[in-house]
Amino acid sequence: MKTILVAGGCGFIGSNLCLQLLNDNNKVICVDNLYSSKIENIKLCMTNKNFTYINHNIIEPLHINDTIDEIYHLACPASPPIYQKDPIYTLKTNFIGTMNLLELAKIKNAKILLASTSEIYGEPQVSPQPETYRGNVNTIGIRSCYDEGKRIAETLFMDYHKQYKVQTHIVRIFNTYGPNMNKNDGRVVTNFISQILTNKPITLYGDGSQTRSFQYIDDLLNGMIKLMKSNYIYPVNIGNPNEITIKKLASILLELTNSDLKCIYKPLPLDDPTNRNPDIQLAKTILNWEPRVELKTGLIKTIRYLKNC
Ligand code: UDP
Repeated sequence: MKTILVAGGCGFIGSNLCLQLLNDNNKVICVDNLYSSKIENIKLCMTNKNFTYINHNIIEPLHINDTIDEIYHLACPASPPIYQKDPIYTLKTNFIGTMNLLELAKIKNAKILLASTSEIYGEPQVSPQPETYRGNVNTIGIRSCYDEGKRIAETLFMDYHKQYKVQTHIVRIFNTYGPNMNKNDGRVVTNFISQILTNKPITLYGDGSQTRSFQYIDDLLNGMIKLMKSNYIYPVNIGNPNEITIKKLASILLELTNSDLKCIYKPLPLDDPTNRNPDIQLAKTILNWEPRVELKTGLIKTIRYLKNC
């Protein structure tokens, strides 16, 4: 039985990961300060004797008495309106918080995995985006606190590996959706479903022609756990290459809910990337991983979850 620390374990991805790791018969220590997450997300985990929750902000050093075998670093607000609310906090979480977790990994001789992001590619000029693409990021825009924060976190991971031999892993996560998303997080999947469920018009930002590639949470968890088990230290994209326009996402959700709500157009937020599509060849080759859940199947499960929230 391994002891695994999940920083950001009450968030959307973190809470699903905690449950999966418990089901795989591990001891899980969940660390979260509930800045952008909810304690209700770990309700099911709380009933498991192998689960511990610690309310802690990773910007402060973290002292744990137990041995730790693995650390998943998911602690960071990830939805644009929330990470932009206090950009300095987002930056501190990604720099100081990441260093604190790397220090813990160094002391405990634990493997550590960073939840990085497709955002590090910025406004991509190649499609699909392979891990070798270095990105096109605005250093001073409204998304920079997150994009550049995750870039420095990747740099810290590589340098802790080179300088201190910490066993690091970096996953670049593309847009992910599923149960435990916060219905008020302002992201497109939750906004559209919440609007449909409350009979409000669907808000398309810009003309809706921008693209994203949506993966279901279970596929992501599978990829992250495989990467943690591997010896691969360089960044790996984990995402679903099924690229669609945001307008198309709206029409799929309307179809799935038999809804005839209207779309209204709102200004495109600054620096909103025009496209995102993961090149997943590397994950296929080194992890024998590829996404399995069809978009409609995953969306139906997400609608069901949000209906009961
Ligand atoms: N978006 C939209 N309507 C909404 C919320 C988002 O059209 O109510 C668009 C947003 O402008 C972006 C895409 O959907 O182009 C994905 O946005 P999200 O905030 O989910 O994540 P991002 O990939 O931008 O980080």
